[in-house]
Amino acid sequence: MKLPHYFDGWPYGWLAAVLLFLGVVGGAFGIYLRIRSRQRKASGPVSEQRRVPWHILPIEELVSRLNFDLEQGLGEKEATSRLTRYGPNAIEEGKRRTLVRMLLDQFLDFMILVLIVAAGISFWLGEREDALAISAILFLNALIGTFQEYRAEKAVAALRRLARPSCKGVRGGEVKSLRARELVPGDVVVLEAGDVVPADIRLLEGAGLQVDEAPLTGESVAVAKDPAASVPEDAPLAERRNLVYRGTSVTIGRAKGVVVTTGMATEMGHIAALLGRTQAERTPLQKRLARFSGRLAAGVIGICALIFALGWWRGEPLLLMFMTSVSLAVAAVPEALPVVVTIALALGARAMVRCHALIRRLPAVETLGSVTYICTDKTGTLTENRMRADAIWTGDWHENFPGEAALFGRAVALNNDVKEGCKEGEPTEVALCRLALEAGLERAELESTLPRIGELPFDTRRKRMATAHQTSDGDCLIFVKGAPESVLPLCRGRWEDDTIISLQPERIEQAIEAKATEGYRLLAFAFRRVEEAPPRDEDLEKELVFLGLVALRDPLRPEVSDAIDQCRSAGIKVVMITGDHPATALAYARQLGFTASEQSLIDGPALTALDDEGFRSGVGNLRVYARVDPAQKLRIVEALQARGEFVAMTGDGVNDAPALKKADIGVAMGQIGTDVAREAADMVLLDDNFATIVAAVHEGRRIFDNIRKFIKYTLTSNSGEIWTLLLAPLVGLPLPLLPLQILWVNLVTDGLPGLALTFEPQEKGVMARPPRRTDESIFAHGLGYHMVWVGLLIGLVCLLALYWAYFEDVAAWRSLVFTLLVFCQLAHALVIRSERESLWRQGLFSNLPLLGAVAIGILLQLAVVYLPFLNDIFKTRPLPAGLLGICFVLPLVIVAAVETEKWLVRRNLIYQPSAPQEKRSIRPLILAICRWGVFLTACFYSASVK
Ligand code: ADP
Ligand code: MG
Repeated sequence: MKLPHYFDGWPYGWLAAVLLFLGVVGGAFGIYLRIRSRQRKASGPVSEQRRVPWHILPIEELVSRLNFDLEQGLGEKEATSRLTRYGPNAIEEGKRRTLVRMLLDQFLDFMILVLIVAAGISFWLGEREDALAISAILFLNALIGTFQEYRAEKAVAALRRLARPSCKGVRGGEVKSLRARELVPGDVVVLEAGDVVPADIRLLEGAGLQVDEAPLTGESVAVAKDPAASVPEDAPLAERRNLVYRGTSVTIGRAKGVVVTTGMATEMGHIAALLGRTQAERTPLQKRLARFSGRLAAGVIGICALIFALGWWRGEPLLLMFMTSVSLAVAAVPEALPVVVTIALALGARAMVRCHALIRRLPAVETLGSVTYICTDKTGTLTENRMRADAIWTGDWHENFPGEAALFGRAVALNNDVKEGCKEGEPTEVALCRLALEAGLERAELESTLPRIGELPFDTRRKRMATAHQTSDGDCLIFVKGAPESVLPLCRGRWEDDTIISLQPERIEQAIEAKATEGYRLLAFAFRRVEEAPPRDEDLEKELVFLGLVALRDPLRPEVSDAIDQCRSAGIKVVMITGDHPATALAYARQLGFTASEQSLIDGPALTALDDEGFRSGVGNLRVYARVDPAQKLRIVEALQARGEFVAMTGDGVNDAPALKKADIGVAMGQIGTDVAREAADMVLLDDNFATIVAAVHEGRRIFDNIRKFIKYTLTSNSGEIWTLLLAPLVGLPLPLLPLQILWVNLVTDGLPGLALTFEPQEKGVMARPPRRTDESIFAHGLGYHMVWVGLLIGLVCLLALYWAYFEDVAAWRSLVFTLLVFCQLAHALVIRSERESLWRQGLFSNLPLLGAVAIGILLQLAVVYLPFLNDIFKTRPLPAGLLGICFVLPLVIVAAVETEKWLVRRNLIYQPSAPQEKRSIRPLILAICRWGVFLTACFYSASVK
């Protein structure tokens, strides 16, 4: 065929050569990068580090080999230079794809390959500029796809960077917090209960260390470690008792050790390298979309085959029909859906960081909106965790230590681990330390006369702690403090006026009850004097003498009340879990207004007594769990999940980790929590605040709404294109769009406006509707119907215009339909910004990115229609003013129709959420489509035949 004059002298051969050259260079570069990364892995420090039998080296050799100082650690300078030598202490998350690779992957789609082959054939047959233009558009499409994937990966990587852990290490003689990523071999680190081991470490000192090696060995029983253990060289990993491994966690104890291997040289790194690329975790929606896309692609290809057959039957040129149907297939299969979902989720996660919620697993962003239960700790999450000691009981309530309670005062001052005056430490203990200080009892001073010689640290199961002190006359004085219900049973008498009198537990219980009902946290103190320190720490807590009680007040966080109100309107039940006294817990619950009755409260012992069956049947009514130990949290999560609830659970300690893992949304604390809890969690609260969970749920709902809008928009657009091309030949009209035009429609309407929809601000009332079920179909709430009928409407509008223009002999009939189809879709993007609210109420300007995207779409389309150069490529003609007017006016039909739909939705007349259990079948939908199709075809056909 003859080339248009714009292309006179255009050296196609050159263009092809340049493209080919770029392709070859790109491919070669990709291969080069691959080889280089493989080489780096095979040699270098990694394998060298791995070969050393670290577990049998004596300490001196360890020191000389790793060249570090046992006390001072490494110097900062040395550490920096080692970091460049050994690389960061990180497990490579599979192979990072290069940009070139991402671009090439875009072309691996089957339909695109078919289209490229088809373009090649038409090029060969002489349709040169057509073939080239199609290739160019495909290339643009691929560029956009690459850009989207790149953004998605970037956003996910940025998120991962935020979640990077830290650890405690010794550098230049100082103990400081180091980024785990920057650890190098030779670094001295300190490990404590609750830490996740940051690298492979040879232990140097410390006792009683127990480590959970399940991530490495699968063995869930904690393993005892011992720095002094002598290990045979051929001992299996699990028996090298002087080594701890990256990724395992410390359950009990404290130790110091030296990093021997980092990053990929660690055992975990080795396993990761063996397993190869770690697949990014997909969200429930993404999984459903992937499944749906497969089915949709099959459907679309079927329809395209039909269109091809119809065109053939009508005598259109075969090659043209083939190109048309393949172009339609490329345009109508929404391959970008999963990527855009990832982008939306990652951007959403970034927005969440701004409100103090750090997402550790991306799928959580999507599922947060579905939470039906939030189980939260009381202390620190609902309350400020700023305790103040208000009252003291020594037979009666006092505001300060009465003169005769000298021993009690000492117990309060000494039985804690507060540092730096009364500043640093666990808030309960800080408050107690202050109380003693106000009474003139300074801990440091007392400690010089009563040095600590033994201790049994606090743990949340025993709910008490004991310290043993040496008195000046050689005796041993033991102080115990803890929850009253845990201390009282150990007491044999009460201390009053320096004598032991009978305990009278009822009186004490009464005193406790009185303060607990007012919302105080109570701590009991007791002591014991023995001539010699008991040989075992376990024997400290025996035959105690009760000293008295301290009542502590922990103010509620001011934002919490509001957040709980929001939960109520959003259909989310809040459950409080605490180790405190039931009366204290109930007082807080009442203050927060989420429960009032005692039936909704259960305490730990009662919970233990319940069997699973009984617990499960009653769990729906329980709102407050008092006196529970963390292990019971797992039971609570399981019981709720068994009833089909979607549970968020907070936690901070080592013992909380299993419950956090099991929960649908595990929530860890950023400030007071342990590493182990954070690793197990989906989300970390940077401010430990309950209100942040609710804010995150809110944000999660907004993000999901927007993803839904994006899906709705894309699917409806595609259905509009399909209807137009399918119905035209059936009703005796010519081919409405050329292949290139189909690809163009897809290019301008899909990418930008779809992405911009994810910037939509929240809809009114996001927190006033019940949670969405996670197993809800993509087509729920009328999305499926919308996609079909609005698509059909778009098709009809275009066909009506085509019908009129074609039979009226309007020269630019094809350009008219082409433009109309684009404008209808852009109008649709504007009007589906809300699922309920009308466009006017919502305000046209509340999503500027979308307005911008629509404006760009309009301009691009006008360019294609009015620029002579593009006229030739796209086979368009300039539209006269009248026709252009039609293109702007007819899309209002779509706007009006969708507004009517929303009006009906607002009145709850259509798209009522289906009953939860009912599984929706797509069959009625298909039947409806067929019925409408036949009806409309008949109408048009009879109209066009005469
Ligand atoms: P929660 O976090 O639900 O408020 P915890 O599990 O932290 O409760 O504590 C449970 C109980 O243990 C508290 O009610 C208190 O009586 C007691 N307790 C808390 N901290 C200490 C401590 N440092 N020493 C002794 N007993 C404590
Ligand atoms: Mg606690």
